[in-house]
Amino acid sequence: MDAIEILKQLKNKGVRFTPQRQAILEFLLETKSHPTADEIYHHVKAKFPGVSLGTIYNTLNMLKEHGHLLELSYGDMSSRFDGNPINHYHIVCSTCGKVADLHRTLIDLDQEVMEESGFQILGHRMEFYGICPDCTKSMH
Ligand SMILES: [Zn+2]
Ligand SMILES: [Zn+2]
Repeated sequence: MDAIEILKQLKNKGVRFTPQRQAILEFLLETKSHPTADEIYHHVKAKFPGVSLGTIYNTLNMLKEHGHLLELSYGDMSSRFDGNPINHYHIVCSTCGKVADLHRTLIDLDQEVMEESGFQILGHRMEFYGICPDCTKSMH
């Protein structure tokens, strides 16, 4: 979905959109870097110097609430945000913290896990860890 489509849907639900909020959404849709709230703040601030970190957080919460955003949380490290809300796998570099998308189909574990646990499965999260090509190169 592109920014215009998302804006239209949210406007129909009565969500108010400022140019700052729109810039946050557009950045999330165009970047592949899975930025933290802080990185989003610095990016948007370059264009809108008056933007506050509070605006970043409440826009991220609103987009998440409406299903237009994935939040990847890492314990006590900053969460990263992904403008692609469809469940997909990620690989994380243990050295520089870079997060990249993996273009694989999701494995169909949910049914098996449901049978084994008796839980109603709402989803699952699986992540791969490694050392990215850039970090591998700088080690030599
Ligand atoms: Zn790396
Ligand atoms: Zn992703």
